[in-house]
Amino acid sequence: MNIFKGQNLLEFAEAFKTDDDCKKYLADIKWKNGYSCTKCSHSASQNRKSFGRICNVCAHIESATANTLFHKVKFGVRKAFFICFEMATSTKSLSASYMAVRYGVTEKTARLFMLKVREAMSSNENNPIDGIVHVDEFVLGGKEQGRIGRSYKSNKKKAITAVELTKEGRVKRMYAMRIEDFSARSLQYMFIKHISRDAQITTDKWKGYRPISKAYNINQIESNNGLNFKALHTMIHQIKSWIRTTYSCVSDFNINRYFNEFCFRINRSQSKSTIFNNLITRMVKAEPVYQKQIISN
Ligand SMILES: [Zn+2]
Repeated sequence: MNIFKGQNLLEFAEAFKTDDDCKKYLADIKWKNGYSCTKCSHSASQNRKSFGRICNVCAHIESATANTLFHKVKFGVRKAFFICFEMATSTKSLSASYMAVRYGVTEKTARLFMLKVREAMSSNENNPIDGIVHVDEFVLGGKEQGRIGRSYKSNKKKAITAVELTKEGRVKRMYAMRIEDFSARSLQYMFIKHISRDAQITTDKWKGYRPISKAYNINQIESNNGLNFKALHTMIHQIKSWIRTTYSCVSDFNINRYFNEFCFRINRSQSKSTIFNNLITRMVKAEPVYQKQIISN
């Protein structure tokens, strides 16, 4: 198959002129390693319209979008592809109201689809960050400077972030996630999910990191008002201002999806040319997220 490369909108529009162009792209990814019937696992099939397949044994028909996050996208796969392209290649995240105007869908429709895209942007947890790693927690919607000790009782949204740095101190990769509180029990999830056991980790002197240092190489130093964690604090600042300016209200549950999107783009800033294909592949392989699931959370 021809992987779409680059960030050029005109080339993109040329490659995906119709819904069927997009469905072909999805089918190519989906059955790249051969067809297998989702009902009976038989491996022989005939082509159907719009790049679907019909099983030679049980006659089960599977469309190109079935079992992907494009399943039952009411406004058409082509618009959905454009939204994915914008979300993957823009440097700033775009709001649902912007997408609604650009693509002639309702804001609610745009918001729901964008949540599915963010779901696909979540880490598969297969590539933990390694090397020089800085970790810190933060709150959304509150001050981050000048705090001594952490409040457990505040009902502000709490989060933890970890960055992998180059020798020059630049951010290579990062992860962020919501946590219940700043206890070691909550903080440890970031380590378990996203940080290698071999990483050389630095945190400030918060006592919540002490129990975790039994399993990880953690060096605790004075934060010095963030000066000792400059790159990390720049990222925290960016996340906070991005969420503040783009999204007026983000539910506790969905906040992780917004972090996913932010980190997905940062972590692929060196491979921007294939970022769209990477996202679509994730959308094909992801479990379908139903609206119910998104709304009820
Ligand atoms: Zn079958």
